[in-house]
Amino acid sequence: MRRIPANQPLSYPIRLPDRVQEDALRLLDVTREVINATVAALWPQLDAFGTRDSPYAYKQVTALIGPGDAHGDRQWRCEAEQAGRILRGQAQRKKQFTRILPLLSAGMIEPKTESKPAGKHRKAIKQALADLREGDADGGSAVELQSLIEQCCNFYLKQGCFPAFYEEMQPIPVLKVGILPYAADDGGDKGQAYHLRLDAQKRVIFFAFRFPDAAGRWTRKWAEPEMALTLPDAVVERLQGGTPLAPMLREIPEPDGTRYAVLDFIIEVPVPALAEPMQIQRVLGWDWGVRTLVTATVVDLSGNRLAPPLFLDSGGFDGRQAHTRRHIDRLKKKVAKLERQRDRFPEGDCRREPSIGKLALLRQEIARGFRKYEARNKDLAHLAANLLILLATVWEAELISGESLKSLKSEGRGRGAKGRWRNWRTNAQIRGTLWRTLRYKCHVTGIHLAWQHPKGTTHTCPRCGKPANTYADPALDAKKLDAGPWLRCFACGWNGARDYAAAINIALLGVSFLKQAVQSPPFESQDRPTMTKKGLNSESYTGSGLALRLPPTSLRGRLQAGGKIYVNGWLKSVTLHSALSHETMLRLCG
Ligand SMILES: [Zn+2]
Repeated sequence: MRRIPANQPLSYPIRLPDRVQEDALRLLDVTREVINATVAALWPQLDAFGTRDSPYAYKQVTALIGPGDAHGDRQWRCEAEQAGRILRGQAQRKKQFTRILPLLSAGMIEPKTESKPAGKHRKAIKQALADLREGDADGGSAVELQSLIEQCCNFYLKQGCFPAFYEEMQPIPVLKVGILPYAADDGGDKGQAYHLRLDAQKRVIFFAFRFPDAAGRWTRKWAEPEMALTLPDAVVERLQGGTPLAPMLREIPEPDGTRYAVLDFIIEVPVPALAEPMQIQRVLGWDWGVRTLVTATVVDLSGNRLAPPLFLDSGGFDGRQAHTRRHIDRLKKKVAKLERQRDRFPEGDCRREPSIGKLALLRQEIARGFRKYEARNKDLAHLAANLLILLATVWEAELISGESLKSLKSEGRGRGAKGRWRNWRTNAQIRGTLWRTLRYKCHVTGIHLAWQHPKGTTHTCPRCGKPANTYADPALDAKKLDAGPWLRCFACGWNGARDYAAAINIALLGVSFLKQAVQSPPFESQDRPTMTKKGLNSESYTGSGLALRLPPTSLRGRLQAGGKIYVNGWLKSVTLHSALSHETMLRLCG
């Protein structure tokens, strides 16, 4: 549990009308150049951004450097704000780098052999990360630390040694997608870079912004009259208890290479107070599954299961991702072939031209593929986080209990072509996004979130607490596997999906954690209970007394044996939403 601020900004992107798109994108392009030049100029003074005296990043920037080009003082402040935010982020990362620096060792590199080139030693990296464990961290930064170690190893593979300092490894960051925070302008009617007026009753905002013309001239006159932008219902609802903040202009690149500009309308909302530990009656436990992405259930303080298990299946999603990966791989092969073709001729030879032209197109297509791939991963993490919040809300669970990210469990989620995208790295990325998103959404929804030790959760009977094995399928004579999908306890007879067992166990750990906190507050100082010391089992399934009317169950194949309710994992086919009231949905869409 972490202390949380009382207010939280929420951002809603609104697409600007077509007639101003060109002007907005031109503004963002010019801005981006100024920001990149500013970051580059201040890069040698990166450490100065490691401390913050003001919430405004622009103050740090303008204290060190003047405007390169006179687009107006307030316009420069907005650009400086973004440059300062980038530098602050990098300074933070540099601090993390000093934490991993002592851990870097040649053992992380697998030397080149006859059969394969030099590469990274995953086990050694994993071990180094485990050594960094902190009692109070939820593992959210494990993903960042891991990416730093990976970056250092990549450096080693190229240079033959680890970087001695951060800047040796990290090139000067370049902003590739336009972004302009208006936070440093006076806004409203007095703004010099933008004007914004809100008419909450008519549910519109009137917005105008300053931009250079096609010849790059910044006119004094506001060329564009105010445009009226309609606010979505969810935003109007948020405005009732919230305060609008300075907006942000941002470019959104589409996977097909086109782009458009949006205005991020930002509202600061008060965060609902968290329930006192004494008041919490129900705990939602969820597990990052082996066969399914997320499995969740709810228990009461006696360990009774109140809710049927809910599974978020990412089957269709896996297929799409695998398809995109294969497409990218094919394109990469074509690139390699074309490069060989091109290099048959010396520099400057016109016979290189056809290959060069085709290469540019192929690289564009590869970049498009990766963008699509990453956007889908992000969507999936958001979907899973939304679903968990939704379930906690409708099942009235005020504590969400999840597995610590630090385990970075990498067991294969299937083999073959589909297994490709599910390798542990990508998996860790989605998990990182899911955990961060969940933490943020719990925060604005007012739900407690606590991580638990994952050890033993998948191989312990949730009913009697004894160690249990997992099997290939529900049959009594099924083959025993290390990480089988079915858990069967021969001591008490309980059997069910392994992921479901894990979700119940994690929920039980959450209950133990809660009971400790009630006996000796505060929440923050609690040691996490372990499976051997949780002192609580899940005797029965009651499945009653809950408000939620779940949609009709659509059971599939042998999963019927477990009484599962299935929600298909691709965004378009999630139908659970339809079962909820409009009011609940509005809360969750925010
Ligand atoms: Zn048992």
